[in-house]
Amino acid sequence: MQVFRFMNLPDRVLAFDELPEELVKDFELCKAESFPRYWKDWMGKKKRTIKPPPERDPLTNTIRKFEPIVEEDHFFYLVDGRLGPSVERWEKVAGYVRQNVKDGYILKEDISAMAVPLAGNKTDGVTLEPEDVPVIPLKKELILPPKPAELMKCKDCPKEFENKRALRMHVMKKHPAKEAAAA
Ligand SMILES: [Zn+2]
Repeated sequence: MQVFRFMNLPDRVLAFDELPEELVKDFELCKAESFPRYWKDWMGKKKRTIKPPPERDPLTNTIRKFEPIVEEDHFFYLVDGRLGPSVERWEKVAGYVRQNVKDGYILKEDISAMAVPLAGNKTDGVTLEPEDVPVIPLKKELILPPKPAELMKCKDCPKEFENKRALRMHVMKKHPAKEAAAA
């Protein structure tokens, strides 16, 4: 499950079960630090990778690079309506959700309007309970087994081959009379 947090006064939240990683990987993440334990347990943990920028050492004038840092914590996916890239990322999610919502679940025209406020007003702390956060159910991605290659059957014996060339080689070797007849 992924919990989206829309910046507002107060902030509003909406959850999805479960968006493809590809769609959510570029969102800014916001730690649920001030949230009670049961909220964090409900949200579950996510990983985020921080890539520290390279630094120039002024003494040796060399560039120092750093390994990416992987952090695992309870995160919200942040949507800031004042920032173009954030709005674009959200629009992609909304488009995906419209296409992939579970049959029978009714979405509002503006999906972000389904988010509910974390508090009664902007001065309250969090008063919303996790069970009151709408969780939009999505169709599960179907993972199909790899399609078996279609095999080509030899007309003169039970053998099967992956392609025409292999079949022709087989016919030349094993059934030379047939090969001559076909030519
Ligand atoms: Zn054969």
